[in-house]
Amino acid sequence: MPSLLERALRSTAPLGPCLASLGACAAPVPPTVAQPTPHAPEPAPPAAPPPIDFVLSPVCGADGEPTALDVQVSLEPWSAEPPVFRIADPENGTPPARERVLGLALSDAAGELPYAVTEGPDPADQERRLFVKGARPAEGRLTLRYRARSIATSDKGAPFGLRHDEHGLGGTADGFLVAPSIAAERTLRVRWAIAASCQPDLEPLSALGPGPSPAVLVAPPDALRQAGFFLARPELVTVDAGNLHIAFAFIGRFAFDTRAAARYAAAVLGAERAAFGDDDPTPFYAFMRVLPELTTRVTGGGNAYGYTSVAGPEAVWDARMRDHLAHELLHHWVGVRLWLRDADGVSGYWLSEGFTVHYSRVVPLRAGLLPPAEFLQQLDRTWRSLHESPHRGASNRAIEDALDRGIGDPVIGRIPYWRGALYAAELDAAIRQASAGKRSLDVVMRELFHLARTAPRNSAGYAELPESAFRDRVAAELGPAGVERFDAVIRRGEPPSPPGHAFGPCFDRREPTPGAVEWFRVEGVPDERCGEPGVAR
Ligand SMILES: [Zn+2]
Repeated sequence: MPSLLERALRSTAPLGPCLASLGACAAPVPPTVAQPTPHAPEPAPPAAPPPIDFVLSPVCGADGEPTALDVQVSLEPWSAEPPVFRIADPENGTPPARERVLGLALSDAAGELPYAVTEGPDPADQERRLFVKGARPAEGRLTLRYRARSIATSDKGAPFGLRHDEHGLGGTADGFLVAPSIAAERTLRVRWAIAASCQPDLEPLSALGPGPSPAVLVAPPDALRQAGFFLARPELVTVDAGNLHIAFAFIGRFAFDTRAAARYAAAVLGAERAAFGDDDPTPFYAFMRVLPELTTRVTGGGNAYGYTSVAGPEAVWDARMRDHLAHELLHHWVGVRLWLRDADGVSGYWLSEGFTVHYSRVVPLRAGLLPPAEFLQQLDRTWRSLHESPHRGASNRAIEDALDRGIGDPVIGRIPYWRGALYAAELDAAIRQASAGKRSLDVVMRELFHLARTAPRNSAGYAELPESAFRDRVAAELGPAGVERFDAVIRRGEPPSPPGHAFGPCFDRREPTPGAVEWFRVEGVPDERCGEPGVAR
């Protein structure tokens, strides 16, 4: 099911080059400039955006175990208006933000700064948030302090919120960070301050990097929302293969071989990097923690610096777990580095989720990491899910509205995953056929990633292009017929229908009865050929 992280992945901006490269970033270094000639105006180095300082202080009990997090946010005033801070407040049955963020205190150079707390949709994106609004403009440096409540993993709580148990405390910032309401890039400095009362074997680690010292990132504050922060006793598995570096932190007791899982994740990440021509050496940080309430399930979300997921103690190493890992890793490109929004302001989940579903299966298939039988099962399930859903014709607007109201999860929110995935396959086959194999969807995606490098960032820090940029690429590849098909499927919700050869030589489709499509494994083609591109039969 789409998690809170998935929700946020769809919600909000250009990644600075630092964010785009994932992981801990150094503060921008002014370029070296030549000695100015006498009397010539001295060129000013580009100024770093004004900093925001976040200090995370775990609160440890008499036994030295962390059970809450004290947070301090400080910055210079950014507006002549009274300051506003905010945190996500989803109506998902878990304690509201008002009950998770305690003892708020706002102060500035003039002393205490009175504030009011309100809840409701954010005018910027309609997402439900809790707001802390100062009663007057700030005078001098502004500081917000509060205690973020953590919920024991044995109790009910938000899956990605702040949770604690004998393995440590942590969650994504979305669950505990009341950040200033600023859409522009800032220099974000995050530091751990760990009291001597905390057990010494607890390690601070986050999607920005390990250790307590300040991690620096240039991005809008909302870019921190999906990043994981933990003070824990993880099992850390790192894989370094050439330019690929992944650090996987497992927190809790898992029902599967975590080392094998980390190796699989690294192999899939390598294949995805190769597919998109990405050789960025910045480390990738992945977190997975055990939550008893998830029993056999797993859910997670990608972010600019890695990904975070939660799994039940009985979740096993199976097709779903492999699909989960490949999917969340793929969001590093489709989602974070490329986000679409249409002319009406509706997010292109058909791309960010649907193309992620498509690529997170075809890339491992091509690389020989996904058994063809497993691929066929996933394809069959995607096809049936879309075609048997009463919501299969839902418009993108209807889907986004349902998600904004928080009812989208099992009902309508999956349509973009299935519709987008099958459209990606249909489009790929059409492009390869029209170009006699010279072009493919991969080529188009690489061109779009390139275009998105200079695109404006949305409030979450993702590179956002207008949907028309994608539609224009379709027109260039396929002409008016391709555009008509794009409009039919993506804009009007007609069902996508990839041809039999869309998934390579090992798979085909048949209609035992009119309208009832079945996908099947083509006999006589060896597994080794299943990663080859399909050609029209
Ligand atoms: Zn996703």
